[in-house]
Amino acid sequence: MKLVTFKDGLRIAVGVVDAERVMSLRDLLGWDVGNDMREVIDRFEDEDIVHDVATALRKPGGGLPLAKVQLLAPIRPSRNVFCVGWNYAEHFEEGKKTRAADALQQIPEHPALFTKNPDAIVGPDAPVWYPAPYSEQLDWEVELALIIGRQGRDISEANAFDHIFGYTVANDVSVRDIQRSWHGGQWFKGKNFDSHLPLGPWIVTADEIRDPQALRITSRVNGTTKQDSNTRNMVFAIPRIIRELSAGMTLHPGDVIITGTPEGVGMGRTPPEWLKPGDVMEMEIERIGVLRNTVQERSE
Ligand code: MG
Repeated sequence: MKLVTFKDGLRIAVGVVDAERVMSLRDLLGWDVGNDMREVIDRFEDEDIVHDVATALRKPGGGLPLAKVQLLAPIRPSRNVFCVGWNYAEHFEEGKKTRAADALQQIPEHPALFTKNPDAIVGPDAPVWYPAPYSEQLDWEVELALIIGRQGRDISEANAFDHIFGYTVANDVSVRDIQRSWHGGQWFKGKNFDSHLPLGPWIVTADEIRDPQALRITSRVNGTTKQDSNTRNMVFAIPRIIRELSAGMTLHPGDVIITGTPEGVGMGRTPPEWLKPGDVMEMEIERIGVLRNTVQERSE
């Protein structure tokens, strides 16, 4: 099932996409869920609800053409998005070329973790702001995003998938010089410019993705492929990420985790390639979809 948050005129609603049509869950099932995907996630704990939605969708007609509504980020979490750095070996290597000589020479034993704040999140087709006057080093990173569906702490690897509600595509847009050399080497600020976390176009529920570690993951800039890998190449697989992140720290329904990017980002190219205003980024993951955003100069 593909779940979206969409805008139709003045109304913002959560809905389900089926065959190029979108139906609000309020209209489809009479749910009083407002526009917050987190309320929907709470309800989906009940298997019968999945059945109810599937049955309702089989009825002909109803809903709106997908092309007539504006898709927003499918979820806006109540706290920071958890992010894994250096989770594909070749991406670690491409960055090493430009790191200081005394920097880490191999991927650490435990995954590198940082966060992006919810205000960085934008939806499909929303502008991604060019970071002038602070930097010209704007870069793309396609990533598989996990949406947590069930609360848990100290989650074992064996139980990790029981806590995942669904998956979406993320673009961990990065301002490289600020990420890497300002602010004491902490990545936070270079990863947290407004609009620098596109998410979408929808959440595909976990039941539809049998093996999330076998998905082709690609990115294109202005139609040219830049990244082309597979989620099987993650150094720390999804169960390990959930175990490490939930160790002594509760994960809540609606939390979002992005799982790292493969090689092929602008920083790792010779010479480096930085995004410019007008560039179109398309982030694609097999069985989920394409997340498209355009870089724009900020007008104010
Ligand atoms: Mg990243």
